Amino acid sequence: MSLHDIQTRIAAAARKAGRDPSDITLVAVSKVQPDDRVQAVLDAGQRVFGENRVQEAATRWEARRDSVPGLELHLVGPLQTNKLARALELFDVIQTLDRPRLAAKLAEAREAGARIPKLFVQVNTGGESQKAGVAPDALDAFLDACRGPMGLEIEGLMCIPPVDDDPAPHFAMLAEMAARNGLRGLSMGMSADFETAIDMGATHVRVGSALFGARAYD
Ligand SMILES: *Cc1c(COP(=O)(O)O)cnc(C)c1O
Repeated sequence: MSLHDIQTRIAAAARKAGRDPSDITLVAVSKVQPDDRVQAVLDAGQRVFGENRVQEAATRWEARRDSVPGLELHLVGPLQTNKLARALELFDVIQTLDRPRLAAKLAEAREAGARIPKLFVQVNTGGESQKAGVAPDALDAFLDACRGPMGLEIEGLMCIPPVDDDPAPHFAMLAEMAARNGLRGLSMGMSADFETAIDMGATHVRVGSALFGARAYD
């Protein structure tokens, strides 16, 4: 589906929900995609991209950083603390702050004068043991620690619902948790369900395969 088609669907979903389409950011998730597909989406005007691996993102985007004005890179995959320095150089937004140790390292970097990307806290709304994210019942305390003693600004929350679940209850839960913590950002919704997510308040939708085509592997 073309970038224009996705933008049209986003705008339609926003209007249907009584929202302003410009309040929704499309994050084009380019992980694993061949470079020609990514270049085509860049050429069509897209500037916000998501990657799930630091090294892959560096390979694809480092050289383009200076030649693509307005480029905004989001990390949407897990961040190992040993890759943090690299991630701080590369990403404008980290959507996957998911544990106290990573928050502590970010706070340390901030103290040392590093530029800290915008941060979203990933919530494991499905309570899946293999999935990253803060447990829902630990979220409020985690946010308080980040924003209080650690001095980190948090933009919003992010979730990846379990593949076999109806995503709507997960989106509703994330929206409720954001509201009660005074957070505006809501990164939720992927290729199969971004319209549902927009209906439930998403400010960022992360669309990969619907935009670029199927991934060869994950
Ligand atoms: C891969 C990925 C996406 C995009 O998934 P699609 O179903 O291809 O749109 C979105 N968010 C995260 C965190 C991902 O890893």
